[in-house]
Parts: sequence; structure tokens; C-alpha cells
Amino acid sequence: MAWDFSTEPEFQQKLDWMHEFVREEIWPIETVFEELGQDGFERAIAPLREQVKERGLWAAHLPPDLGGQGFGQVKLGLMHEILGSSPFAPNAFGNQAPDSGNSEILALAGTDEQKERWLHPLLNGDLKSAFSMTEPETAGSDPTQLRTSAQRDGDTWVINGHKWFSTNGSIADFLIVMAVTDPDARPHQRASMFIVPVDTPGVRIVRDVPTMEHPYDSFGKLGNHAEIVYEDVRVGPEALLGEVGAGFLIAQHRLGPGRIHHCMRWLGVSRRAFDMLCERATYREAQGSVLAEKQTVQNWIADSAAQMQAARLMTLHAAWRMDTEGASAARTDISLIKFYGAQVLHDVVDRALQIHGSLGYSTDLPLEAMYRYARAARFYDGPDEVHRQSVARQVLRGYEPPADGIPREHVPTRREEARRRFAEILEAVTAND
Ligand SMILES: Cc1cc2nc3c(=O)[nH]c(=O)nc-3n(C[C@H](O)[C@H](O)[C@H](O)COP(=O)(O)OP(=O)(O)OC[C@H]3O[C@@H](n4cnc5c(N)ncnc54)[C@H](O)[C@@H]3O)c2cc1C
Repeated sequence: MAWDFSTEPEFQQKLDWMHEFVREEIWPIETVFEELGQDGFERAIAPLREQVKERGLWAAHLPPDLGGQGFGQVKLGLMHEILGSSPFAPNAFGNQAPDSGNSEILALAGTDEQKERWLHPLLNGDLKSAFSMTEPETAGSDPTQLRTSAQRDGDTWVINGHKWFSTNGSIADFLIVMAVTDPDARPHQRASMFIVPVDTPGVRIVRDVPTMEHPYDSFGKLGNHAEIVYEDVRVGPEALLGEVGAGFLIAQHRLGPGRIHHCMRWLGVSRRAFDMLCERATYREAQGSVLAEKQTVQNWIADSAAQMQAARLMTLHAAWRMDTEGASAARTDISLIKFYGAQVLHDVVDRALQIHGSLGYSTDLPLEAMYRYARAARFYDGPDEVHRQSVARQVLRGYEPPADGIPREHVPTRREEARRRFAEILEAVTAND
């Protein structure tokens, strides 16, 4: 009997340490992040990174030969659940998006020279990166429509295009740019990835796009999303990542584990919101009783607990499948958790915000920020609708229309069949009547 929901005691000790460390050392940074600014933040986080490295938990998503732990997705998932509780925790553990995904791309597709020049400094925290794929003019949910092009000119490539929502683009040292290298190839073989240093002539970081998450104009801050114009950006052959036309293939490898980590981080956020929801229920009084005694509030608590448990088991199961059967086998499971996990995050945060009334809506609690963060989860790394469509298509492969056009469960048809099968007994029963 192989089903087992337990965690090895040695690994549980690591998780316990992380849990304590994130709460005690990283949560306080959240409250002074704006005052610290980008430089102050780097100084505050640097000694914490050292502690993480000493514990052997730095950049754990990478294989051991690149300084990671080779933990596999289930263990990484459990770690990300803890890291998700604070937007700054992944940063202290060397697996903050988008650097973590980009380091996976470089590990997967980079040459030895590319790893030396870009991956190692990225892992040391000496460089920052961004992933530049989405364009304002084409649908990000259908990247076969990408327009940014990279054309060969002798030994070099010339990149032209317009991107936006390149997270951390304005503080990055280099960008991984997805560009069309062969518009006539089959849709998923049209694009390639290039490493483009931000100071390459022709790269213009236009602005950081104000969003629900950061509604006011600001530039050059961690987590901002940059709009970038690439105008006759000339790079050498050493910029190409992997084979020409392999852009989508590489992106697919990166996205599977990334989605598991996202979902587990969302559970970390949900748990924190849930704790606030429950705490508030125990002491706030209205209409003669504490909120914990109102049935609506009890429903919120029970529904949230059930949804979080379901999402957690689904996500860890997807991670287990990825570890044991590989990324392709886990594709549908990953799509399931991507849209379901985003919904759970939204629902739990929304209830926690609601129970706090105006306090929940105010910035005196982190709930309004969580709410804004939760909204984006429904479309980055693929909108809900696309993942639902993909799940439904996969599920429907197991079905076909009935040959005679009559539903398989049609009771009168089945009854007729059953009457034939049990004719003798039925006759005997009727004779006895
Ligand atoms: C916080 C955040 C960070 C991001 N970081 C990055 C980054 O670092 N790098 C990067 O390149 N991009 C990034 N993005 C962009 C993100 O990947 C895109 O927003 C996403 O792929 C959707 O593309 P789009 O915005 O062009 O929406 P569109 O593709 O235009 O889709 C809009 C809507 O159309 C509907 N839709 C689409 N397809 C279907 C369908 N098949 N069925 C039904 N409805 C459908 C959905 O409702 C969808 O939300 C980020 C976005 C956010 C919000």
C-alpha cells in the first residue's frame, strides 16, 4: 500500500525551521519595505540569505550540481507553502519569481558559457533577471501569436518588438526574451529565447506599468512589471538559449514546476488570511454574540478549511505525479490546480477581508494587498479559462458519443435490456402475484 501522506521527520525539521524563520525574520520586513527602498531591502535581506545558505536551503529548486538540493516537487511544494506566507520570503531563499524560473531555463537549456556568465551570478544573488514574453498587442494566453521578431543578420540576431508585464524588468541585469525566429514554422516551433543584457543598445525600459498591486507610478522596484521596447537590438549567437525554435518547449518545462510552486505559495497566503479570519471570529461582537457564533461565519470557516485542504491535496498530488511520472503525465493535474488554487486563494482572502469590515479594507491589515495579489493569480501563467479548456479537452478524450445516439444511462433502454436478462425471475415473480 503506497499511499502515504506523512513527511520524513528530517525534512519536517527543515520545514519547522523555515516556518519559524519566515515569521520571525521576514514578516517584519513587510511593514517597512517602502521605507527601506530597494537598497535598504537588499541590505536587510542579505544576512538572512546567509542563514538560509548555511542551512542548505538556498535555491532548492535546482539540481545539486547547480547548488540546489534536488528535493523534487513534493518537498519543494511544502517549502513554497511556507514561503508563500510573505511576498519577501522567496527572496531570502533564492527562489523568487522570475529569477527561479529563469535559472531553471538556464540550467535546462544554457551552454556551459551561458551558465558561467548568467546562471551562477543569478544563483549567488549578484544578478537579477526578467522574463519578457507578453506583448500588449497580442494575446498572452495564445503566445503562438507573438510578434516580437529576431532576425538573423550574418552572425548576429536583430530583435524588434514591444513587451510589457516583464516582472522585475526595470531592476534586471538581463532579460530572457521570447521572439519569433521563423514565422513560417509550425506554431510551437516559431519562437526562440534570447538572453539580452539590459544595457544592450536598443533596449528601452519605457516604464513600470501601474497595476492593482502597485497602483501608483513608481520605477525600479522589486515586483514591478516593466513595459519594454526592443528596437534593432543586436545580440551575438551566444545570446540564443537552446535550439532555434525551441522557445515554447523550454517555456513548457519551466511552467510546470512553476505552477506547482505558485499554487503552494497561494496556500501559504490563504493560510495566513484564514488565521486572521478565525482570530477575528473569536473576539468581534455584533448583535449579541461573537462572530464565531454566526452561522454565516461558521460556514466561511468550514468552507475555507475544506477548500484549502482540497487544493493542498490536489497540488501535492500533482507534484507527486510530476516526481514519479514526469511533467507530461502531470499536465492535466497542473491545469486543475492552477485555476482551482487561484479560486481558493481568492475566496479565503475575500472572506477574511469581509469579516474585518473596514479594518480589512484598510492598509492596517495585509488583507487588501492579499486581495489585489489574489486577483492576478487568475490570469498569469495562463488564464483560468485556458486551463479549464485544457482540462475539459483532456477529460473528454476519455468519452465518445453513443453509437445509437441514446445516452448510455437511458433508463427505459436499460430497463428493456434488464427485463430480457432477468426474464425468468420476473416471470416467476409475476406468476406468484
Ligand atoms: C502580476 C503579473 C505578472 C506577470 N509577469 C509576467 C512576466 O514576468 N513575463 C511575461 O512575459 N508576462 C507576465 N505577465 C503577463 C501574463 O502572462 C499575461 O497577462 C497572461 O498570459 C494573459 O495574457 P494577456 O494579459 O495578454 O490576456 P489575453 O490573452 O488577452 O486574455 C484576456 C482574457 O481573455 C480570456 N480568454 C483567453 N483565452 C481564452 C479561452 N481559450 N477561452 C475563454 N476565454 C479566454 C480570459 O478571460 C483572459 O483573461 C504577468 C501578468 C501579471 C498579472
